[in-house]
Amino acid sequence: MQALGRSGHNLGAFTSSSSILYATSTNTNAHTHRYRTDVLRLLRNYVNLAQNSMTFRAPTTAAAAKATATAPREREHTKTFTVQTTRRVIHGFAGRSYSRYSASTIMTSYCKELSLKDYDIIGFDLDGTLLRYNLTNMSALIYDVLKRYLVDNKGYSEQLLKLPMDLDFLQKGLFLDGPRGNILKLSSEAQILRATHGTRLLTDEEIVAIYGPERQWAITTSFYKDPLSTWNGAASEQMRSLLDYFDTPSALVFAQAVDLVDKESESPPQEYEVWRDLQAGLMHIFSRDHFSNDISLYFKGMRADPQKYVLCTDSSVMDWLSALRKSGKKLFLLTGSNIDFANLTATQALGKDWQEYFDFVVTYAKKPGFFTIQRPFLQVDVRELKELANTELPQDAGILKPGELYSQGNWHQLHKALARLLNKEPAKARALYFGDNIIQDVYTPVRHRDFDAVAIAEELLMEEKNYPYFAELDSQLWGSYFAIGCQPTLWSNFISSFAQICVPSMQEVAQTAPAQRIVCTNPYGFSPRLPKELEMTHPTSCWEGGTGSGI
Ligand SMILES: [Mg+2]
Repeated sequence: MQALGRSGHNLGAFTSSSSILYATSTNTNAHTHRYRTDVLRLLRNYVNLAQNSMTFRAPTTAAAAKATATAPREREHTKTFTVQTTRRVIHGFAGRSYSRYSASTIMTSYCKELSLKDYDIIGFDLDGTLLRYNLTNMSALIYDVLKRYLVDNKGYSEQLLKLPMDLDFLQKGLFLDGPRGNILKLSSEAQILRATHGTRLLTDEEIVAIYGPERQWAITTSFYKDPLSTWNGAASEQMRSLLDYFDTPSALVFAQAVDLVDKESESPPQEYEVWRDLQAGLMHIFSRDHFSNDISLYFKGMRADPQKYVLCTDSSVMDWLSALRKSGKKLFLLTGSNIDFANLTATQALGKDWQEYFDFVVTYAKKPGFFTIQRPFLQVDVRELKELANTELPQDAGILKPGELYSQGNWHQLHKALARLLNKEPAKARALYFGDNIIQDVYTPVRHRDFDAVAIAEELLMEEKNYPYFAELDSQLWGSYFAIGCQPTLWSNFISSFAQICVPSMQEVAQTAPAQRIVCTNPYGFSPRLPKELEMTHPTSCWEGGTGSGI
């Protein structure tokens, strides 16, 4: 649960960006660091954006063989640059000159792929990954309880409760500019494509007047350069990135509260307090201390009727997990949710024996800090479903027992424990992680550790017929999650740069046997196909700064 994790990081779950710089034996491959600038070149290569990926059911091996066979120089180069996975072809090449990105070369050579047999260890996020939510019901619940919090605890007008839930305003990936009361949508290089003040769409002239001709805010630009540098401290007091569906309703609550402040004030405040109030509300409703005592109306609603909010995961996913273990993989579940909430949702989605699919289960993991700092593991009372205070375990791999459930902890120690099960050195025990939070689950383990990652983007399901949460994800106001006009969004950039591939759901992946490769013929890794918004980009309508909302 990302929101819980975020509450955690604000309380020190992630200390500072400098803490990510220490080296451990798990960080073995400097060449795994992504070359985002060069991927951006690819994103701008509009001709190639039209290349779709294969479906999961397509005979991917043959296509991959054809692709590599046509580029012997590239293959030789790849051997020296990438010893772990052929997917890194794209990044190994990225340091070369731009002229290498000819259409014919990319069509045949620059594919991304996922081959599970390349990995010894496979990890999973829970919320939004192994389980999905009924986005209609969950969005409404979070929206209602946040508004109630502001009225009951922060003195906002009762009028706030009467305002309608405008689904068109919701979108994953937006940024709140707290002091100004604005909401921003960013391009692949952190320029402001669209923005609102409260719920009112700002004109281009207003955006330029507020943020300058470059259409950039220093804090979101810092996020673009290094998301973890904005995770705590002053930046987090001013800016919020809405990274998953726990976060998206807060944008509308924020906007409507800003509207009310404007309506009730003679002149706009120098600095809006709404974000600080809302941040307190998020901490309140998602705090693990408020799970079992009905203090949080969010948890109260979830506990009363979990089947209203949590979808049952398709049995093919559980079968696939079992097949992975049978093939010798070591699996772990890593969730930001505390054990009591994780047990509630995982039982609803995966069944009462949900823990048995994994070699290790880690709850309250406080991502992204889990990957970057060496916080100790704590023991969990499984019967009482609570973390045991003062049970910090030594930083010794042997202390972690398979089949046990732990709280907090760190990747360095877990990696060593998993490697022991495999009788391998940690540096040779290769790990893959599946997750829906692009910063916590994809960027951080890939950029700062030696993971590969698969991004889950439910937005890809919007192209399917009968997708039930289209209204929650579709937004005429903000445009596509992936691109507006010819301009890819920040999230297309991060996904292309740091994810091995991007899939709509675990169910899609579970249709692939553990030994089968998934190959994308687009260089950006979107499967089963490139989002249509990226396909439709073309240079003649490209936004180059200053005309953003007109696209
Ligand atoms: Mg998640």
